[in-house]
Amino acid sequence: MKDYVNDEDGETSCIENTEAELREFETDKPKLVVCPLGLKLGAIGKGWDGAPAVTCDTWFPRISRKMNTIGFVLLHEYTHWETLMSPVMLPAFQKKATLDEAIGPWKVRQLTRHQATWNADSYAWLAQEIWWTQTCRGTHGPLEEPEEKDN
Ligand SMILES: [Zn+2]
Repeated sequence: MKDYVNDEDGETSCIENTEAELREFETDKPKLVVCPLGLKLGAIGKGWDGAPAVTCDTWFPRISRKMNTIGFVLLHEYTHWETLMSPVMLPAFQKKATLDEAIGPWKVRQLTRHQATWNADSYAWLAQEIWWTQTCRGTHGPLEEPEEKDN
């Protein structure tokens, strides 16, 4: 959907630096809003008007936000969905889905392992780094750790 307007307070999703947002995440039919900023992110090896393709050549060698794709954003958002995540969330957390504790490749590394279990971006960065490591290592070499400025 293009944007979401909360009936109660008129609040919309696509404000400031928001790339996407999952609304009604506590229901079986959440609303996934992809904002104009999110649509500027390309896909792995594929781009479109206003969104360049993302490949090993576009960001290598250091892990950074430059490797982000629309797929990364969608994965992040779906970890907020209670129906999807509640079976795997730790009981001690007492939440049914992830929260946004830390965002970005450098900040997620500052969390404890316990904090990372409920942080949406930790799941997305894990998947993203595994993908790019497997995809680029053979042709480009090992990835470098992110720095604070890469967040
Ligand atoms: Zn989030």
